[in-house]
Amino acid sequence: MIQFAYDALPSRVVFGLGSRQNAGAEMERLKCSRALILSTSGHEAQAKTLAQGIGKSAAGLFCGAVMHTPVSVTNRAMEMARSVNADCTIALGGGSAIGLGKAIALRTDLAQIVLPTTYAGSEMTPILGETAEGQKTTQRTQKVLPEVVLYDPELTITLPANLSVASGFNAIAHAVEAMYAKDRNPMISLLAKEAIAVFVRSLPILLKQPADLARRSEALYGAWLAGTCLGAVGMSLHHKLCHVLGGTFNLPHAETHTVILPHAIAYNEPAETAVMRSIAESVGMDSPSLGLYQLSGQFGAKRSLRELGMPETGIEKAASQATQNPYWNPRKLEAEPIRELIRKAWVGDPPAT
Ligand code: NAD
Repeated sequence: MIQFAYDALPSRVVFGLGSRQNAGAEMERLKCSRALILSTSGHEAQAKTLAQGIGKSAAGLFCGAVMHTPVSVTNRAMEMARSVNADCTIALGGGSAIGLGKAIALRTDLAQIVLPTTYAGSEMTPILGETAEGQKTTQRTQKVLPEVVLYDPELTITLPANLSVASGFNAIAHAVEAMYAKDRNPMISLLAKEAIAVFVRSLPILLKQPADLARRSEALYGAWLAGTCLGAVGMSLHHKLCHVLGGTFNLPHAETHTVILPHAIAYNEPAETAVMRSIAESVGMDSPSLGLYQLSGQFGAKRSLRELGMPETGIEKAASQATQNPYWNPRKLEAEPIRELIRKAWVGDPPAT
């Protein structure tokens, strides 16, 4: 029997080559005239080019966004927003720049225009994770959902091969967990299945031809689908583990997702056999967990938490945090198997199927 509840989220998406040039027109649609442009330091040059394109409606530039949205950085950006009298923000970048725009929107209700440059998917979600004093907290509120998303594949051309893979796995993880979410629904499951297939198809080609715009466009389409999944339904064990590991050991976000995903899928495989068959079809292999582990290896991705800089002594701490206030998960979280999962991920062993 089909049974579900589904809340569609209100956001405008403009997708295609050159769509970044619509930023000024989108400001007018929102009746805004003073944008604070946000980016990480690595994207300063592109942010300046964007500001030049917008002309006098670019009121200020803040290029200090960093991973995990520290409140101290948000406070500095808020000061700037006030001092330039901004009436909207334009975030250019991955989840770090977008997270900063969301944190400002939470506090001010300023409208957000977002130009994603990775496949992390934050632009499509009403979710904000923030860190203060070493603790990461996450909230879900429509106040942080961006009003407009401009997906321009040209902005992703510079994404290095290793980050393209890791970010692609980050997106696949959203789609996988959407398929076995407690509040899953048929429409989001369709998007999720397509998102996984899109990345499995496009990532090998992007590795060889990073400037292939058609493939970049396809991967960004996958990011939109996967971000929509993340925004629409609840996430489970995989996202909880990445949240704990990223927040506690300051591990790189997308790379942590790449390491953990095969192991989280393996943990949930016995509880969701039909869904796992469907994921396996998209991955194009018999076992989704082993298949994704092999794929990340073929792509040259790091497959261990050790390589990402997590100390071995962190395994116990992570295992205990992962089972405290757990997210809903299709398989009950048991302390010893979770500890073993993290140990395997730390070493870089294949997942326990
Ligand atoms: P990121 O935004 O931190 O970017 C990683 C690095 O890549 C940065 O140095 C950045 O400058 C660089 N970069 C980004 N795009 C580039 C490009 N096209 N070319 C060259 N360099 C580029 O990485 P991310 O994985 O997109 O985002 C991670 C952050 O987003 C984390 O804080 C995570 O918690 C958050 N996130 C939030 C959500 C949500 O829904 N709230 C979803 C996904 C991720």
